[in-house]
Amino acid sequence: MAINSPEGTRDLLPDEAKFWAHFRDTAFGIFARYGYQPIETPLFEQTDLFVRGIGQATDVVSKEMFTAISGENFKRVMEGGTIKAKSRLSLRPEGTAGVVRAVVQHDLVPQGAAPAKLMYAGPMFRAERPQKGRQRMFNQVGIECLGAEDPSVDAEGIIMLMRFYAAIGVPMDATRLLVNSMGCEQCRPKYREAVREYMNAHAEHMCEECMRRAEINPLRAFDCKNPGCAEVMEGAPKISDYLCDDCREHYQAVKTYLDGAGISYIEDPTLVRGLDYYTRTVFEVQVDQGMGSQNAIGGGGRYDKLAEEVGGRPTPGFGFALGYERCALAIQAAGQAFPSAQHCDIFVACVDDSVRAEAFSLVQACRDAGVTAEMDHQHRSLKSQFKLADKVGSRMVAVLGPDELAAGEVKVRNMSTHHERLVKLDQAKALLAQFGGEPFGGAHASIEDVFAGEE
Ligand code: AMP
Repeated sequence: MAINSPEGTRDLLPDEAKFWAHFRDTAFGIFARYGYQPIETPLFEQTDLFVRGIGQATDVVSKEMFTAISGENFKRVMEGGTIKAKSRLSLRPEGTAGVVRAVVQHDLVPQGAAPAKLMYAGPMFRAERPQKGRQRMFNQVGIECLGAEDPSVDAEGIIMLMRFYAAIGVPMDATRLLVNSMGCEQCRPKYREAVREYMNAHAEHMCEECMRRAEINPLRAFDCKNPGCAEVMEGAPKISDYLCDDCREHYQAVKTYLDGAGISYIEDPTLVRGLDYYTRTVFEVQVDQGMGSQNAIGGGGRYDKLAEEVGGRPTPGFGFALGYERCALAIQAAGQAFPSAQHCDIFVACVDDSVRAEAFSLVQACRDAGVTAEMDHQHRSLKSQFKLADKVGSRMVAVLGPDELAAGEVKVRNMSTHHERLVKLDQAKALLAQFGGEPFGGAHASIEDVFAGEE
């Protein structure tokens, strides 16, 4: 039986793989204008990093982490043995913990330094029940800014994210930005207590899971999809009534910056997000078009205590992550197709096998000159070589036969105008050699100039 890709994973076939690269490059291009620099961290980290950073009580850590274990350690565990903490590894379920760990480990924000602004892109792993827009391995693009607690950091982060969505083709009229402040260690405990008391008073209408949550982290009940719980939680105390003066001021400043940039948002005092590390600003971007129940295409917030949680000095932070796959669904639903990954400047077709060596050398000369060139590798007929040239979207086909070769020529057909020209092989190769891999266009001649010849 054939083996398929694991449940909850997707192959990005060439058209989509190319779109993903474009998606990432567009994001990085925009974020770089805001001073963000790329960082790459391992796909797996010590499990403890996620337990301490994201929180043991979160679903992401308690239920959804993929544990990575070496063959030797696996054997040890299977035989009832234990393994050292540093050998307990998990595939990263999100990017923030790893980036913050790297910032602390390499001291990227020494005391008094400017903030470290970092961006990343790559796969994340969560053992969730797969459904539309929810996978076990998915791609995220994200940013983290460490070392500044000013609300301007939060606001510029949100603004650049919204600019990116618009640039990549997410339908902005079907998109909404929700914002909230979750307070800080001064004001949130009182709020959490108030929610817990409220939940206990309404326990008979709430699910068991929520009541279990009430003990560990009652705020998580705001995310419960159970209609009974949702109804009860609508009447729950609002964080906005509990924010301390500093948090209220910070939140107000973020909103003022967003207003100034013309970004519309909805204040949602029930937005708590799934991870424990958030303080103050939290936000989420949702799209209605083309999505199943998983309509969050990105989100993030401030995490002023996370660096300390993972053993660093106090370093305020802000970050977000956006999910590539859900954005792609929204973009496709808005009628945008992935542009074809196929691109070919010239296809060199052989009339028979006697010219293959020369065709091979011409194709190579084109590629060395920075031209995308292709030839047949299956000894097809000339007719089917033309079909293949069409399929790969070739702009020109160079036909090489024994007669042309004897005359030192090649016949070049422009596939859109159907004009044919005879081109001197030596001349074309000499022109190609001048380019030496420099991109065509601009000051250079084009591939059409190389194969201009005579009509
Ligand atoms: P989170 O780290 O949960 O805030 O996720 C940030 C973004 O990643 C979400 O808004 C989604 O777009 C995306 N995302 C999170 N989990 C998944 C998943 N299981 N499958 C696909 N995309 C996901």
